[in-house]
Amino acid sequence: MIGFIGDEMNARENMQRGCRFCGQTLEHLFVDLGMSPLANSYLAPAQLHKMEPFYPLRVFICAGCLLVQAEEFESAEAIFGDYAYFSSYSDSWLQHAKTYVDMAAARFGLNRQSLVVELASNDGYLLQYFVALGIPVLGVEPAANVADAALKKGIPTTVRFFGEETARDLVAHGTKADLIVGNNVLAHVPKLNDLVGGMKIILKDSGVITMEFPHLMRLMEENQFDTIYHEHFSYFSFTVVEKVFAAHGLTLFDVEEIPTHGGSLRIYGRHAEDLSNPISERVAELRRRERDVGLATLSSYLSFADKVKGVKRKLLDFLIKAKGEGKSVVGYGAPAKGNTLLNYCGIRLDFIDYTVDRSPHKQGHYLPGTRIPIHHPDKIQETRPDYLLILPWNLKDEVMSQMNYIRDWGGQFVVPIPEVQVL
Ligand SMILES: [Zn+2]
Repeated sequence: MIGFIGDEMNARENMQRGCRFCGQTLEHLFVDLGMSPLANSYLAPAQLHKMEPFYPLRVFICAGCLLVQAEEFESAEAIFGDYAYFSSYSDSWLQHAKTYVDMAAARFGLNRQSLVVELASNDGYLLQYFVALGIPVLGVEPAANVADAALKKGIPTTVRFFGEETARDLVAHGTKADLIVGNNVLAHVPKLNDLVGGMKIILKDSGVITMEFPHLMRLMEENQFDTIYHEHFSYFSFTVVEKVFAAHGLTLFDVEEIPTHGGSLRIYGRHAEDLSNPISERVAELRRRERDVGLATLSSYLSFADKVKGVKRKLLDFLIKAKGEGKSVVGYGAPAKGNTLLNYCGIRLDFIDYTVDRSPHKQGHYLPGTRIPIHHPDKIQETRPDYLLILPWNLKDEVMSQMNYIRDWGGQFVVPIPEVQVL
């Protein structure tokens, strides 16, 4: 108990800001993942001789509104300025985007007179499918290097952060959206109220918003603590996101549970005054289910940290045993979540020889903190490892079918989350 009280006091002393939604002082720790570098700060060979900044990776739960949120240490500009994640390098993510575009275009009757605005539009991985249907689009993307890739594909993109100021500016230039899309942006912005307030401004009277983000209920049920990293500021239950949108005059009229990123929500919003889209019964049903699993009470959140420690011990047990038997272990993938996992668990070259990634932007670089080299996937064929640790466990089916040839030499797959599993 002393440790627990100590943690709580530490948390109180160090927390400088209030809740990013309701402003209440944050007093309760959700989980402490120790010191970690920014999860997307992949290192070039020349950087191996230099220091790396590490920041505390701690997440709090607000007792006032129950928003689970990370502390903010680095300015958003520093984090996203040269973002290495190019969405187009995952087949399943592209397929997901295309399926969504076909659904949204049909459901909301989008046509050549419509405008789709995507927030954090990345390299245009999603908007390209609207363009293919002849539907006008505008991407808003803060990272210049990925926005540049979108522009090269002919996808109109403006390079800036989205918030109320950008929204007012776009509206002043005649831009209002029939559909606002934001996939994995709601959780990624430090200024939550500014983002949602901006959407209220730029949305046409009859417009619709859809946003996707990892579902906190799944994170907690399935120990997905590695989806916590500094770039990921908020962790939402449906109940809380509904409150956030309502505070900005937006009503969530539908919600879907989708499999991306280990279990996400896709929410559908509109102006509170616009009654053209009636509220689906799925809204009340999910709210009820979240209450039933305890997400409406603070105490449910306070036991998560112990589950996380259990996952770490099991993964280390496996690796210690494998190495003790002289087996070789390599990683598959270099996702941000892998960096949280490896840094939190203290897994470096003592356990993992290297990892591989299909993205040429990551190959030849090193994982932040652990400094594990990232190679082209062909390296696996050369070294024939005994175990392949799948870091993007949410894509494990895709990875296992692509890499099935490791069976030729008796190789096995290891999935770390929800707890270590050898397949
Ligand atoms: Zn709050």
